Amino acid sequence: TLSRALTRAESLIAETPDYPEPGVLFRDISPVLVDAAALGAVTEAMIAPFAGTFDVVAGIEARGFLLAGTIVATAGVGTLPIRKAGKLPNPAASIEYHLEYGSAAIEAPGVLPSGARVLLVDDILATGGTLGASRKLIAELGGEVVGASVVLALDELGGERVAGPVHSPFHA
Ligand code: AMP
Repeated sequence: TLSRALTRAESLIAETPDYPEPGVLFRDISPVLVDAAALGAVTEAMIAPFAGTFDVVAGIEARGFLLAGTIVATAGVGTLPIRKAGKLPNPAASIEYHLEYGSAAIEAPGVLPSGARVLLVDDILATGGTLGASRKLIAELGGEVVGASVVLALDELGGERVAGPVHSPFHA
């Protein structure tokens, strides 16, 4: 059943202490991506509350691309890649945001139809900086964000204060 596949998918998420720096518990969804049943169950749960409400799924580089690509195949929508800064010759919008140390920026090409209804997806919600910036990016491109969904939300970090509401099948 779907719920058994979901339970198994959660157990597949790998944890590595002190990566990429001391004190951080790194969560890797690669074991979910490689498993067809787990990947199908997770992406289905990610989009369930948003069925029929979005035209485009925007995946955040890099793991968000893989989730978005999977969702495209079942939801009958298009996808917009949200890139880390410096990868596009002609970004239509660029949003800078704060990290624990320093800052980062995300960019997108100018291909989104005006008024497109967009679902944002990524692997992990941590501080919420990336998804918060992605909301601003879609608004600047003329799209409407209908929601945000991740595989795993790290609730203790309070990321929704920065990112707005984020749906996820799994919480830690
Ligand atoms: P944030 O902007 O702080 O919400 O961070 C979200 C982005 O950083 C996501 O794209 C994740 O891929 C990555 N990330 C943050 N924290 C972790 C973690 N503990 N394990 C794995 N990836 C993480």
